[in-house]
Amino acid sequence: MKLEESVVKKVAFYTLGCKLNYSETSTISRMFENKGYQKVEFDETPDIFIINTCSVTENADKKCKKIVKEAKKISPNSYVTIIGCYAQLKPQEISEIKGVDAVLGAAEKFRLIELLDGFAKEQETKVLASEIQDATIFNNAYSMHDRTRTFLKVQDGCNYGCAFCTIPLARGKSRSDSTENILKSVREIAQTDVKEVVLTGVNIGDFGIQEGKREERFIDLIKAIDGVDGIDRFRISSIEPNLLTNEAIEFVSKSKRFVPHFHVPLQSGSNEILRKMGRRYLRELYEDRVNKIKTLMPHCCIGVDVIVGFPGETDELFLETYNFLNELDISYLHVFTYSERANTRAVDMDGVVPIKTRNERSKMLRILSEKKRRKFYEDNLGNTFTVLFEEDIEDGKMHGFTENYIRVAAKYDPILINELKMVSLKEINEKGTVEVLEPEASYESH
Ligand code: SF4
Repeated sequence: MKLEESVVKKVAFYTLGCKLNYSETSTISRMFENKGYQKVEFDETPDIFIINTCSVTENADKKCKKIVKEAKKISPNSYVTIIGCYAQLKPQEISEIKGVDAVLGAAEKFRLIELLDGFAKEQETKVLASEIQDATIFNNAYSMHDRTRTFLKVQDGCNYGCAFCTIPLARGKSRSDSTENILKSVREIAQTDVKEVVLTGVNIGDFGIQEGKREERFIDLIKAIDGVDGIDRFRISSIEPNLLTNEAIEFVSKSKRFVPHFHVPLQSGSNEILRKMGRRYLRELYEDRVNKIKTLMPHCCIGVDVIVGFPGETDELFLETYNFLNELDISYLHVFTYSERANTRAVDMDGVVPIKTRNERSKMLRILSEKKRRKFYEDNLGNTFTVLFEEDIEDGKMHGFTENYIRVAAKYDPILINELKMVSLKEINEKGTVEVLEPEASYESH
């Protein structure tokens, strides 16, 4: 028995970046388990470490180095593999990090068990990263048991080529799973105790391209998913404004399971900057999308991505963005401070904004975001929503999100973890979350 136990290799995972990376790490970890490896926590002296990186993360290189160092401290003889967007963009650079045994690109990462057969250490670092044009296959993925919600990958890559973005270089062309395969995954997930599925992708509104040809449409996908029983909630994570059709908005407004929450990247409220960025819409279209959503779903949560300090963003143009957002009926912002990325069109553009100015603008929008969030929460006080409670405790309180993405706090009760409960929103506490009426008094079964 002892002998057998020592033969089973232990593998640990670390994920940086977005929901897509989480879904992929989770799927790769299940591949390891199916092959007889034991999945362990990062600090449980693993034999193998898989680090899934992100290129959007600030200081991706430093972060990666730090995690590798940490891994080697925990298990000095371990086999360290780096995958993910940063691995695709800078494979050579990563291979020079001390302690890295293998670097795998986008086309290779799902075949890593087969490619790194046995994970035997070699003198040289293995670099298996094809050109990004070779990443044409869609690998399906979903996260499981890592969080209360499951992230289901339905689409990968992007054909848009915005001036600031490296994602197409790291993830390749737009490609999707078939609706049939996705429904299969949804049915599998429905067999578990997962209550909420978040649809993820790089550009999910562009769903439907298979082998370079448009075969299906996003609207048909969400309609098909809505017909699968056994999952209470579906959330669309992020969708480009020009791809968020009236039909999709109307569908969500009537669906009992697609929740009223959209995350719609704006990036700039100035048409001049939107054109320079190569975005495929103008601010008028964005405003129209927000109005359409709010007319049909007054309680809908709308999150916005915005970039500050893009080349050519003068004080006046930044104020256009600020004022536009200030007047728009949105619920929160994700603010990104522009930073130069190699091999993008934006690095060669004139009108570089000083770092200090970028940071000041970022701060202004973060304050605006808090104001928007508070107003959105206030507008919803006194109403009844359904909360999915998570497993985090802080000062005797547990937290969860309503269907329209309001973060609530309630008295800790382990029975409520991963449960959907109706609550009445009472007040905003000093931490900015919403207190609900005591569960025992107000909950009804879903
Ligand atoms: S739409 Fe633009 S920002 Fe989004 S992934 Fe594609 S290129 Fe990048």
